[in-house]
Order: sequence, then structure tokens, then C-alpha cells
Amino acid sequence: MSSAASAILTKGQLLFAAPEPVTVPIAGRSELFPVHRIYCVGRNYEDHAKEMGFTGREPPFFFMKPADSLLVVEEGAVGAMPYPTLTKNLHHEIELVVALGRGGRDIKAADAMALVFGYAVGLDMTRRDLQNQMKKEGRPWEIGKAFELSAPMGPITPMNEVPDIGSAAIALAVNGSVRQKGAISQLIWSIAETIEHLSAAWELRPGDLIFTGTPEGVGPVVSGDLLDGTIEGLTDLRVRVD
Ligand code: MN
Repeated sequence: MSSAASAILTKGQLLFAAPEPVTVPIAGRSELFPVHRIYCVGRNYEDHAKEMGFTGREPPFFFMKPADSLLVVEEGAVGAMPYPTLTKNLHHEIELVVALGRGGRDIKAADAMALVFGYAVGLDMTRRDLQNQMKKEGRPWEIGKAFELSAPMGPITPMNEVPDIGSAAIALAVNGSVRQKGAISQLIWSIAETIEHLSAAWELRPGDLIFTGTPEGVGPVVSGDLLDGTIEGLTDLRVRVD
């Protein structure tokens, strides 16, 4: 067992039931993908970095969401996301999610794709007003990013079924109107480069998910809105804000 996997083990009964594992369906398979961590890349498309007031040329940076902040949506279903507390400015961010089937540390970009199991469509839902307040005060982002059900995602498609993911189109429509539109080829830091950077800072594990960043066009949603996220070759993600 690696050092990162070690835990304090004692004999005895659990004080209360341990949390259920978080799992994501795999398109066309009966097995489920068990989730370890959720890493997210900040500002990974130049036009989105610019709309947030940055140059788009900075090194990659990361934040996390808890595994149990996922809202897993089955193929053909519409996920229900409650409008979260404390915010008046809930934003959508459509993102390619990379699911790792293998782990490691200090992985070079040239070797990084061997860690990838597959891909899914995800949403990095953001309490923008709270995130902006934390940014202004130099405080952590969790209250803006890491709340319950803040990470809707659809089923994972194994990578060998989507050989053209690097050139796939990515889009988000709200109530049928396109709000975000881009291509995975516009990522500032590619999937492989992102894995290189992440694995220098953390030991990656099978079950890790990477939300790779969002193209331009982020904006608010309100209760009743229907979000339709698409990436060519992957299962669509549909979510209604309750
Ligand atoms: Mn994001």
C-alpha cells in the first residue's frame, strides 16, 4: 500500500455507518467506476481566462471538490440539482472530465495518457458571488466550488471508444440556447500536461477524476433552468436546477 493510501486502522466496530462509495456508471458496461478524488483545473481555456480578467498565460492551478459532491446522472436521465444556499449567482461551467484508471506520481506528459481510463461530460457548478468574495479577500475557494451536488457528471466512456477526444466540440445549452461553445483542442494545458502537473503535487490514484476547465461563456442559472451539456463522442449530460 502506498503512503498516500495509508490510514489509521484500529480494531473495533464503526461508531456509525461509513459513507457509501461514490460510483459513476460506465457507458456500455455493467461495472461501476469508484471515485477517489475530484481535481479541478482553473482557467484552462484562454478566452475563459480573459473573461475572468486574466491573461490566459499563467501556469495551471488546481482546486478540489469532495467525491460526494458529485451528482451522477444516468444516460437519458435529467439530474435534479437543488439551487444551493447562500448564493444569488450560481454559474454553469461545462467541462471535460478525465477519469483515471491508474495512478502514480511525477508522471511525465509523454507517459500520462496510460493513466486515463475514460472521459465524461461534467459541470463545475460555482457559487460565483461567494468565489469572487473569497478571491478578493485572498481566502480559500471551497465555499464557492465544493458544495453538495456542485459536480454533476454523466457516464464515463472508455478512452479507446473516443480516439478523437482531443479535437471534440464541447458545448452547453440552457433552455435550448447555446451559452458555451468550444473545442477540447483549445485547452491551454492538455490532458497529458495536466496529469504531469497534478502528479507532481499529489499522488494520483485509480478513481481520481479531473475536471479540466471550462471554455468561455460562463453565466448564471436560476431555478427551473434545463442545462444540456455535450461533448462529441460522449454521453450528454442533462441537469435541471430545482
Ligand atoms: Mn471550472
